[in-house]
Amino acid sequence: MFNAIILTAYPEMFPGNLSYSLIGKALKEQKFNLETIDLRNFGVDQRNSIDDEPFGGGPGMILRPDVVEKAVLSIKIDPQKNTERIYLTPAGKLANQAKLGNFSKLDNLIILCGRFEGVDQRAIDVLNFEEISIGDYVLAGGEIAAQVLLEGCIRLIPGVLGQPESLLEESFSNNLLEYPQYTRPKVWEDTKKVLHEVPEVLTSGNHEKIKEWRYKESIKKTKVKRPDLYIKKEQDK
Ligand code: SAM
Repeated sequence: MFNAIILTAYPEMFPGNLSYSLIGKALKEQKFNLETIDLRNFGVDQRNSIDDEPFGGGPGMILRPDVVEKAVLSIKIDPQKNTERIYLTPAGKLANQAKLGNFSKLDNLIILCGRFEGVDQRAIDVLNFEEISIGDYVLAGGEIAAQVLLEGCIRLIPGVLGQPESLLEESFSNNLLEYPQYTRPKVWEDTKKVLHEVPEVLTSGNHEKIKEWRYKESIKKTKVKRPDLYIKKEQDK
């Protein structure tokens, strides 16, 4: 079973978003396990500090390497199990759907959440944390980033989604964005009294034609919105 172990100074932020909807149901049904480790249990000195000022000067505080090491050593897991350690940081490699797919197959994913200015680089290097970013923007801490990453991973675990076929054609499968989707009403009159119809093919009942239309729309959308993905698709051919 997929086991997420979160190293954080704010364990009370979990499960947070992960306790809602399909993911929350999967957590209740023990389709995955979530554990938090409070970094403050491993603080040093009389003030139980977990961070200190950066050498070389500059603003903010840095999470101490000795605190991170003690927290990591407190984790009790079978060494035979498939385990990876990641540190969430905007300075990491960008996560993507394929990466999340790989994480979702692990037995244990250990996630270090930073705060303030980040984590002492020695802890990251010596303890073999892979540096992963969830996007090119800076958050205040790793806890929301961990929930984003975990939500993406957990929905890929077999049995979590009610309709697993929804994974087959969604965005990023085959390096494409998903085609546009429509629902009732078939003709929608907006508040300015303008009528908007659903593309006719979708109500034709012709499944071959619908498939063809959706594929073409996927290609069109990807070319316009994510030309980088489209190039990748062409290269993978
Ligand atoms: N000084 C760091 C830098 O410039 O790269 C930013 C530190 S950020 C304010 C504090 C923490 O938030 C980081 O240690 C990390 O755990 C988390 N964080 C912020 N943005 C993130 C992102 N895009 N992806 C993953 N984690 C992020």
